This record gives sequence, structure tokens and C-alpha cells, in this order.
Amino acid sequence: MSEIEGQCLCGAIRFRLSGGLRNVVVCHCSQCRRWHGHVGAYTRVAKVDLKVEGDVAWFRSSELARRGFCRGCGSSLFWERLGTDMVSVAAGSLDEPTGLRTTLQIFAEDAGDYYEIDDRISVRPPRSAGA
Ligand SMILES: [Zn+2]
Ligand SMILES: [Zn+2]
Repeated sequence: MSEIEGQCLCGAIRFRLSGGLRNVVVCHCSQCRRWHGHVGAYTRVAKVDLKVEGDVAWFRSSELARRGFCRGCGSSLFWERLGTDMVSVAAGSLDEPTGLRTTLQIFAEDAGDYYEIDDRISVRPPRSAGA
């Protein structure tokens, strides 16, 4: 897959993804829903394949992970499990065409009560570790 670019809403943070991009995973966990205002939707790349211009602010959202955002406009952009070499990138921040598809839903057991799970997209069975 070739390169994809993306940015926050105000444009202060721009980035370029190269290498193999994972298809999009939708996360229904309560942290993602609070963070994004609704579900999280992420592709993922190796950190070495993400080149960022601009000053990303980081919020330590759990013992396991931190979330990156733009201080200027508040766009939520990145999710990173600490101690790994991968980073998840919010699909909605990417320039189109992305060439990506949504192929999996996770933490569906934590979904909000105000919408339905799309049963056309695979759902990962529940497991205990939080995001
Ligand atoms: Zn911004
Ligand atoms: Zn989540």
C-alpha cells in the first residue's frame, strides 16, 4: 500500500503514513466514545512508518495507553499502547481516498445505548483487558 496523509482539523498537525496500513477497526469502548465523541475508528502502522509535523499533545488515558491530540483544535488523532512499536491513527483524520475498509469491531459489549452495532462488520468476542 502506498502513502496516505492526514491532518487535524486546524492543520497544525499533519502526518504521513507509509508501509502496511491495517484496515480500520471500530472500537466501542467507553474511553474511545468519550475521547472521540462517539466510537473510535483506527488504522494502525509501525511508529517508524508515521511521520508527524506539528506538536502532538499526549494524554495518558490508562496504565496501558496514551492518546495524542491537537492542542489547537482538539482533534483526537492517535492511540498508542505503551511499550510497543505500533501506533493507531484515527481513520477520520486521513485524506481520501484511504483505500481502507472497516473490517472489525471491538469492545462491542461496551457500546453505547444510543446506537446499534452494525452486524455487517465482524465483532471480536469480549475479553477483559480495557483500552
Ligand atoms: Zn489542530
Ligand atoms: Zn476504545
